[in-house]
Amino acid sequence: MPYQTVNPFNNQLIKEYTPHNDDQVELALAQADALYHSDWAKGEIIQRLPVLHKLAELMESRVEELANIASVEMGKLIEQSRGEVKLCAQIARYYANNAQKFLAPVSYESSLGEAWVEHHPIGVLMAVEPWNFPFYQLMRVLAPNLAAGNPVVVKHASIVPHCAEAFEKLVHEAGAPKGAYTNLYISQDQVASIIADDRVQGVALTGSEKAGSIVAAQAAKKLKKATLELGGNDVFVVLDDCDLEKAVKVGAEARLNNAGQVCTAAKRFIVQEKVAKAFLQQLTEHFKNVKMGDPLDETTTLGPLSSKSALEGLTEQVNEAVKQGAKLHLGGKALQHEGNFFEPTILTHISRDNPAYFTEFFGPVAQVYVVSDDEEIVKLANDSHYGLGGAIFSTDIERAKKLASRIETGMVYINSLTDTAPELPFGGIKRSGFGRELSDLGIKEFVNQKLVVVSHS
Ligand code: NAP
Repeated sequence: MPYQTVNPFNNQLIKEYTPHNDDQVELALAQADALYHSDWAKGEIIQRLPVLHKLAELMESRVEELANIASVEMGKLIEQSRGEVKLCAQIARYYANNAQKFLAPVSYESSLGEAWVEHHPIGVLMAVEPWNFPFYQLMRVLAPNLAAGNPVVVKHASIVPHCAEAFEKLVHEAGAPKGAYTNLYISQDQVASIIADDRVQGVALTGSEKAGSIVAAQAAKKLKKATLELGGNDVFVVLDDCDLEKAVKVGAEARLNNAGQVCTAAKRFIVQEKVAKAFLQQLTEHFKNVKMGDPLDETTTLGPLSSKSALEGLTEQVNEAVKQGAKLHLGGKALQHEGNFFEPTILTHISRDNPAYFTEFFGPVAQVYVVSDDEEIVKLANDSHYGLGGAIFSTDIERAKKLASRIETGMVYINSLTDTAPELPFGGIKRSGFGRELSDLGIKEFVNQKLVVVSHS
């Protein structure tokens, strides 16, 4: 795919970016590998952390400029883009403040002697990232790995080259040495060659199930570790004892944020019979009241999808769902307007043999299922190929906790939408991938946890 900035609000081409050729890729790998073998990567962690402090400061001082780039390039509402930039600064600062503690040696009691585990970098990483959080996804990989000493080469999504360029510039301006972070406008074949290169020791991909399975297979073939942050079909459970007004408000937000293009968005609403009618009625009202428009307009509440092909794909999915028997309760089609707008949509009566039942809808499309009791909730929630996040709304916290433990996903939030914070592990199970980003777990994905034992004898 060509690397282009096309404004999804009007599909105007803004800029084309020149792809990197194989010589440039070789140079990037050579620089990254040289850095890995230098004192910078192998030496004390304390010398690397100032880069992250500075990066946090830079991002905070340029929120408006960076937010604007993201909103114009992939259609995120300007206020949500600002939030994303601020979150990136928090992640950088979080690792700047905590990485040393996370990577400190850990002692082990042993009959064999004095034992401890040290944490060392493993080498160059290949990161492949998606467009939906065009800065945050980059920071989730960069911050922990820069702290750990792993140089990163990155292939960002082809529709967000400006974000990719802006982020790389910031990392360098923050003082990262040559090779610590390199943005590459490259093809899928070039990604495969990089993964196969002996200098590369790990692969981190965030994206679709399809890309994840291809890239993970390439990594596996060369016996390299991979982390995969893939799609989801998260449930948003509405119990009959919940604060319904709050559940509806948060549920609408959880489905419509980022025009519905969030891996952990509320995609399947599972609602108990007693409150189902009221919930559907109120959710419909919320969806009807959105104001679609320019993401840069502060009063817009629903922006366009990221690209024309995303709009076409979603339209096809909804049409197919309805053809296979789902009931269209609201919306269901693209807006007759320039740009990639899709109406907020609610589907009901989705049977298990409808392909929609197992499909991730990456846009403002809610599926609503009505259930009778907790057993049915667990059965339906877990009847999914994915296992990323989920939310449960209830005033009975003990009941909600029991359900949370039984839902087969990597994350469950009670009385909140599935959220993210630097200190909380992020990731899923099943076809949502493996490995974790953020928190203490994220920084340990690509380090050598090396055991050293001093024998007693
Ligand atoms: P995508 O099509 O898989 O693209 C993601 C990245 O992978 C892009 O950089 C893309 O490059 C690249 N890519 C695709 N196929 C590849 C291949 N065969 N070899 C190498 N690179 C390849 O996904 P998307 O449509 O951009 O993102 C949406 C998906 O990501 C959704 O399923 C969403 O749920 C998931 N997601 C998951 C998380 C999480 O943390 N779990 C977070 C955000 C998004 P091109 O742009 O050049 O195609």
